[in-house]
Amino acid sequence: MVRATKTLVLFALAGTTVIAAVSCAAYLSGQGATAQRGRGKELKLDDIPVNGERAHRYLREICDIGPRPSGSEGMKQQQQLLEKRFRELGGQVSLQPFVARHPLDGSAVNMANMLVQWHPQSKERVLLVAHYDTRPFPDRDRRKPKGRFIGANDGASGVAVLLELGHHIPTSKTKLGVDFLLVDGEEFVFNDRDPYFLGSDYFARTYVVEPPPYRYRWGVVLDMVGDAQLQILQEQNSLRWSDTRPLVDQIWKLARELGVHEFIHRTGHEVRDDHLALHDIAKIPTCDIIDFDYPRSGAASYWHTEADLPDKCSALSLAKVGWVMLEWIRRVQ
Ligand SMILES: [Zn+2]
Repeated sequence: MVRATKTLVLFALAGTTVIAAVSCAAYLSGQGATAQRGRGKELKLDDIPVNGERAHRYLREICDIGPRPSGSEGMKQQQQLLEKRFRELGGQVSLQPFVARHPLDGSAVNMANMLVQWHPQSKERVLLVAHYDTRPFPDRDRRKPKGRFIGANDGASGVAVLLELGHHIPTSKTKLGVDFLLVDGEEFVFNDRDPYFLGSDYFARTYVVEPPPYRYRWGVVLDMVGDAQLQILQEQNSLRWSDTRPLVDQIWKLARELGVHEFIHRTGHEVRDDHLALHDIAKIPTCDIIDFDYPRSGAASYWHTEADLPDKCSALSLAKVGWVMLEWIRRVQ
């Protein structure tokens, strides 16, 4: 089985021979997707009832804090900012603290997931997930692998879409309650052997051991969704699991209906991401929406480098992903 962490796949795409063999099958399956693009009228910001400019302002506001790895001062500042913003919008905000071991020296690192709840009385809910920690170092940066990692696309983009959705959820008619989960410790890693997904793992285990008085019917992870050259293929685990396949079908069909052709109806890579723990441990059918497929262009060119900055992300991409999610939330049951 391909252990397709985000890291391994992209190294393979960059042509690193050592592991190219294990990942090329996954890569080849994503070929041909460009044939789907460019059909129909191109959407503009004004066509979309989600405010992409505001989402991009949120993204910049988060990035202005600087690096936000788990346990850092930047993470603390981000938590304060998000708590304030989500409360202003009417969300119920709570933190789920946990302690993890520092992979380098074993010391304790304080981490916390943030849960934002809308219509908290609903017993049947959906969970929208983004990681809000940033990788400690831009280790794919050829010039400065120990430099400053801002994580505009890989970190802030999912959070920015959720902030923008916070303006729409309170006034939207939904059948299910809506929760946003911002997970910590998604990539508090210093090399690829270090454990990923600490926050989603903790959340999933707690959901099983101390079940809340409601249940999540569906979950969706948003990761790297702001790239200006957005291309979102269907992630392989999400397609393969029988309980998430209908979710993938629904979302991509809906995107097509809205004219958001960046959701491409083809199989992409197998990506290890926060959906694994939510699906495997918590048994919440959760799919991964991630732009992670194109070598040397788009997100792949600056991924885990110092260049992952707000200028790589566009208001239009954030608006498109936000719109698909908003429509999905309004219809899901
Ligand atoms: Zn990353």
